[in-house]
Amino acid sequence: MQAPTMTPPRNKVDSFESPDFYCIDDLLTAEHKLVRSAVRDFVKREITPIVEEYAQRAEFPKQLVKKFGKIGAFGATIPTEYGGGGLDQISYGLMTQEIERGDSGMRSCVSVQNSLVMHPIHAFGSDEQKQKFLPRLATGDLIGCFGLTEPNHGSDPGSMETNFIERSDYYLLNGSKIWITNANIADIGIVWARSDQGKIRGLILERGMEGFTTAEIKNKWSLRASTTGEMVFQDVQVPKANMLPNAFGLKSALKCLEQARYGISWGAVGAAMECYEVARRYSLERIQFNKPIASFQLVQKKLAEMLTEITKAQLLCWRLGTLMNEGRATNAQISLAKRNNVEIALNVARDARQILGAMGISGEYPIMRHLMNLESVSTYEGTHDIQLLILGADITGIPAFK
Ligand code: FAD
Repeated sequence: MQAPTMTPPRNKVDSFESPDFYCIDDLLTAEHKLVRSAVRDFVKREITPIVEEYAQRAEFPKQLVKKFGKIGAFGATIPTEYGGGGLDQISYGLMTQEIERGDSGMRSCVSVQNSLVMHPIHAFGSDEQKQKFLPRLATGDLIGCFGLTEPNHGSDPGSMETNFIERSDYYLLNGSKIWITNANIADIGIVWARSDQGKIRGLILERGMEGFTTAEIKNKWSLRASTTGEMVFQDVQVPKANMLPNAFGLKSALKCLEQARYGISWGAVGAAMECYEVARRYSLERIQFNKPIASFQLVQKKLAEMLTEITKAQLLCWRLGTLMNEGRATNAQISLAKRNNVEIALNVARDARQILGAMGISGEYPIMRHLMNLESVSTYEGTHDIQLLILGADITGIPAFK
């Protein structure tokens, strides 16, 4: 039997160039392009050379936290007076696109810090809370997490059991949260809990508060380079100054999720672009039947469909970013983009995996890592089906998830 010839592993030097079939770059400002190019360089230098090994070891590259702070990836849209970047939503979207091109887990870390920690403090916090936390979150001196999901309440967070009782000078918090990105490395957590009057409020938990513990969730096959954990609250005395004064009800928590879904819409396109580019290059180099496999119609069909979907998703992101900048984007518009772009990214990753044949499952290429990561991205911040039901409710006026 003839020994199979293996295509040599891809050179680990990252020479990514993004597809831009519809000249969408023409719609970007000089600042957008500058931000994208700085983050792309960062990803090539700091993420792609190491992330596969961290994913294999199921370890979060914690050294990146300060580096994200340095390049302005934390608090990108927060005003500069609080240490943020003061950038617009399209610049922020391009950042998440580039970071997720490297790895969805790295983008998860950035999304949580921006949309689920800094955003609620900025939108719902007191001035003292903003001064105390935002500048250090922006530099990465502090890392945060967001606790909404509970063991018995995922898609239905309105039924949460985590609760607090008002005492004279503190709130007594009990309960638990699960599947929390960054939980076990977080210095602070935005935790959503029900008051003794039945109202949902947001509290800022700080590492070291007695009765507050975290534990890492092991054995994940997805987002392996991201850290995910549980938060447990046992008679935690949370100072009254740590309640977000302007967050009332579940709608405030859901507002944070909208911000996160917006970043995910862009991020998923980054993962799709990487899978497409790797598959395109591989198909030109891989010889079967004495020809590059790129010469076969069925391979071209896959590549053509990938590029079509990526181009549509890029346009969706740009338009959604414009609506976000104008303050006009609705939650249903954001859900449409999150659902569509994660779905197309998963399909692109699956087709890329096919094009690479056996090499598609190897850690020498990023495809399988992206494919497995995107399975989580499709579930978190509201599952694929819940996004669809948000759209359904918008179309019909009838929420079908209740
Ligand atoms: P369930 O709600 O039990 O849903 C299971 C299935 O039932 C899904 O297919 C769902 O679509 C379907 N379903 C549920 N209700 C309906 C309905 N009414 N109609 C139709 N179908 C329905 N949460 C946080 O709070 N903070 C985080 O930082 C965070 N990070 C995460 C990181 C990872 C890696 C993962 C995997 C999850 C993370 N989550 C986080 C949790 C995530 O948001 C939840 O997993 C998600 O909301 C779904 O909840 P669930 O897993 O309990 O699924």
